[in-house]
Amino acid sequence: MKFFPLILTAVVVIAFQPSQAQESSVRRVLLGSAYASHEGYRLLQRVCDEAGGRLAGSEANDRALGILEDELARYRIGFRRESFSMPGWVRGDDAVEVVSPFPRKLRAAALGYVHHHPPFESRLVWGGTGTEKELTGAADAIVLVDSESPRDGEPPLRYEVIDNAARAGAKGVLFVNDKPGGLVLTGVGNFQGNPCPVPAYSITLEEGKWLRRLQIAGKEVRIRLTTNSRCMPVQSANLVASFPGKRQARIVVGAHVDSWDISQGAVDNGIGSAVLFEIARLLSLHADVNHFAIDVVWFNAEELGLWGAKAYLTRHAADSIVALINMDMPGRPTGINVMGFDEFIPLVRGVMDSLKGFDWSQGIVSVPWSNSDHQPFLVQGIPCFTMAGHLEKESVFHYHDFGDTFDKADHRALVDAAAALSVLTYTLANNTSVEYRIRSVAERRAMFQGTGFEKRLKRQKEWPY
Ligand SMILES: [Zn+2]
Repeated sequence: MKFFPLILTAVVVIAFQPSQAQESSVRRVLLGSAYASHEGYRLLQRVCDEAGGRLAGSEANDRALGILEDELARYRIGFRRESFSMPGWVRGDDAVEVVSPFPRKLRAAALGYVHHHPPFESRLVWGGTGTEKELTGAADAIVLVDSESPRDGEPPLRYEVIDNAARAGAKGVLFVNDKPGGLVLTGVGNFQGNPCPVPAYSITLEEGKWLRRLQIAGKEVRIRLTTNSRCMPVQSANLVASFPGKRQARIVVGAHVDSWDISQGAVDNGIGSAVLFEIARLLSLHADVNHFAIDVVWFNAEELGLWGAKAYLTRHAADSIVALINMDMPGRPTGINVMGFDEFIPLVRGVMDSLKGFDWSQGIVSVPWSNSDHQPFLVQGIPCFTMAGHLEKESVFHYHDFGDTFDKADHRALVDAAAALSVLTYTLANNTSVEYRIRSVAERRAMFQGTGFEKRLKRQKEWPY
C-alpha cells in the first residue's frame, strides 16, 4: 500500500518536468521584459493627459480607447471593441448655492444618475447620517448628511440615504465629505442606472462643517439647487485583446478603463488599465500557445455600475470562462486575494514563492469583495482573483476627485504590479493541476453567506440569490 503513492508521485514529477522548465523560462521573459520597459507608465501618461476624465459614453472615454488601440497596434496585438448600450449619465452645469444667510456658491459634485430638474430653493435641515429616523423632519427641505455624526451602528450608504430622503419627502441631499482639503467624492447614486429620486451632491468637509455651525447657531440656511446633469442612454464598449489557447475555455484578465469625469482617473483606474496593457504586451512576447485562451479586457463603465463587466458576461454567456483576474487601483503587490476559491491557494503560493523579491506582507487573502468588475463574475460562481497592493497615501487621497492626476501614479509600483500579475496570469492560463470549477448556486450562497460581500450586495439591491 505504501509504495503506490511514491510511484504515482514519480510519474507525475517526470510528466511535469519539461513543461515546468519551459514555464520558468517564460516567467523569466515576463519578469525581465516587465522591468526593462516603461511602456505601461508611458501609456498611463497618454491616457491621463490626452484623454482626461473618462466617464463611460463620453468623448474622453472614446479617446482613451483610441489611445489603447493605437498602442496595441504598435505592438501588433489584435483587439476588438465589444459595444453595448447602458443607462448613461452626463454632468451638466450644476450649482449648489447658499442663498441665506448670504450668497455663496459651494464646491459640489452631483452624484451619478442625478437628473435634471427646474431650479428650486429650500431650507437646509440637519439629517445626521441619513437614517429614516433622522430624516423624519425633512419634508420639503434639503438635508445635510454627514457620515461622521454620532451614530448607533453603521451609517447608511449614500444610495440608501437618497431613498430615505425621497421617502421622507425631502427635496435634495448634500453629503458632507469626510476628508479635509476642499475635496468632493464623486460616485454613483444607485447601481440600477435609475434617475435619482431627489438630487444628491457631494460637498466639501469644510463647507459642510460651516453650514452645520450656522444651523447650530440658529441661523436659517437656505440653499438653491440647479441641476443640469442628466440621465440618458449611451453606447459604450469594452476593448478586448484575445490570445488563443489549446483549450477554448478562457481566463479573463481585466481592468476598468473608465473613470470619473472631474479627474484624470490616474490611480482609479488608469494604473489598472496601464498594468493590463503591460500584461497584454508581455504575453505577446512569448510565442507558445497557452493552455487556456486569454481575454485581456478593458472593461468600460465600471464607475456607473459595472456595466461593461456585465455586458461582457452577457455577450460571452455561451463561452466557458474559467477564471478572472481583476485589477482596480493596483499598487505595489503585497498579496493575492483568492476570494473564497481556496483550492487555488497552493497555486497562488507557488506564484508568490517564485517571486521572492516581492514584499508579500499581506500573503494570501481569501475575502470576496464587491463594487468592482469581478463582482458579476463572482455572482456567477467564476473563480476570481485580485491583487492586494500598497498605494501611497498621497496616491489615494484624491480618490474620485479632481486631484487623481498622472503625477499621483507611482511608476515603480506600476512595473511591480505588471511583473507580478503577468506571472499570475500566465500561471493561471497554463495551470493543469487545479481544476477550474464554476460554483453552483447553492455553493455560492454558502460561500458568500455572512461575508461583507453578501451584506453589501443586499444593501445595494444586487443580491441575486
Ligand atoms: Zn475603480
